[in-house]
Amino acid sequence: MYDLSLCETRDKLKSKKISSVELTKCFLERIDKFRNWNTFITMCADKALDAAQKADKKIASGQAGELEGIPLAIKDLFLTKGIRTTAGSKMLENFIPPYESTVSKKILETGAFFLGKTNMDEFAMGSANITSYFGKVINPWSKDKKLVPGGSSGGSAAAVAGHLCVAAIGSDTGGSVRQPAAFSGIVGLKPTYGRCSRYGMVAFGSSLDQAGPMTKTVKDAAAFLKVIAGYDEKDSTSSREKIPDFESFAGKSIKGLRIGIPKEYRVDGISDEIINCWRNGANWLKEAGAEIIDVSLQYSKYALPVYYIIAPSEASANLARFDGVRYGFRAAGETIDEVYANTREEGFGEEVKRRILIGTYVLSAGHYDAYYTKAQRIRQLITQDFLSIFKSVDVLLTPTTPTSAFAFGEEPTNPVTMYLNDVFTVTANIAGLPAISVPINLDRQGRPLGLQLIAPHFREELLVQVGSVLEKEACFPKWKEACQ
Ligand code: GLN
Repeated sequence: MYDLSLCETRDKLKSKKISSVELTKCFLERIDKFRNWNTFITMCADKALDAAQKADKKIASGQAGELEGIPLAIKDLFLTKGIRTTAGSKMLENFIPPYESTVSKKILETGAFFLGKTNMDEFAMGSANITSYFGKVINPWSKDKKLVPGGSSGGSAAAVAGHLCVAAIGSDTGGSVRQPAAFSGIVGLKPTYGRCSRYGMVAFGSSLDQAGPMTKTVKDAAAFLKVIAGYDEKDSTSSREKIPDFESFAGKSIKGLRIGIPKEYRVDGISDEIINCWRNGANWLKEAGAEIIDVSLQYSKYALPVYYIIAPSEASANLARFDGVRYGFRAAGETIDEVYANTREEGFGEEVKRRILIGTYVLSAGHYDAYYTKAQRIRQLITQDFLSIFKSVDVLLTPTTPTSAFAFGEEPTNPVTMYLNDVFTVTANIAGLPAISVPINLDRQGRPLGLQLIAPHFREELLVQVGSVLEKEACFPKWKEACQ
């Protein structure tokens, strides 16, 4: 029963074919069995079993909520009241939040609950889940060599791929839902900026961050998105846009839809297998009645440098609050300045420090106009580029990543090479657009490959509609079948 999708689990629970308690026990056993993947930072086993018991009673008495009794997982970046939230950092190693994030609150209100808080790159900075203070995460697809699961939501991706939970929540600032989804053979959806409240998420790049579902199927992502979306007075950037019944778009005909193929996404160094996968994806959509149109997004080539100016700038401001006084870890020092400096020196890892340094440098008086202002201008051009393309196409089809998952020890040692992983995903964050990664096939080495769809603002239903065609044609193998 652990390999059922979210929608199947929901239906089987409601029709009492399975119970939430037995399902929860089954996942807890698996989490124990695959402890070496290091998927979770904190487990909530007792709370989960308690919630499962209550859910079974509610189902029996006909009072079930929308996702009643479903065991889920959530990235350790979402504040959970009374449950330790670390953001993968020593800085928050012992931090117990006094309040609940809106996204997790909405999920709990449906009757679903969390088995635990998943591992992640420190403060969501990374593409391989190797910067966590709590250790690396192993991709369940690993065979002879141990693979990275992608990042920064690597724990959530591994938990879903390895059937340690029904579905999980991640966060995406530059690709952290979609890239680990592609590396781990699952579906990852980043909603439109403002679709979900950011209240109670540990902030990284506030103009880029969004929560997103990481699931086994496209329909699951649709059902999950519906419960986490919506206006929240506690987040002034959340939107009042109406929330369609996303799930009803799964399996809907795509006849007549126009799919754009942006030529700039054929970057140097992209593998042949990914180009083939992209071509196959376009052919499937064509056979299903869509029109394939070659398009150009001339400013996309600037997306990565723009992202690596804006995201660190916002991070350097957001992370200023971790000073040893207000939250978490504090190091000793003779003077207050020494306490600040020692706390930040000992509390943050190398990648986080690198981002803070880049951010403070590009925001400093002498460099602000040359870097930050210019990056903001180009951000506008990139967004305009998308808005005009969406006059002639309905969605864009691109690869999610330029390579498949790499093995530990084979990861890029140069940070800039590591940043290239995000080349296809950052554009959607820069322009605030919704995007999804759908697993397509395995490369010659048996590593998952994914394709990405990008839609206009607040048109996530198009991602579900087109994504479910890709999913149906791809028949992506389940982890269990592939790894036996
Ligand atoms: N890999 C990107 C980075 O390191 C994206 C991170 C994210 O989306 N949280 O910044």
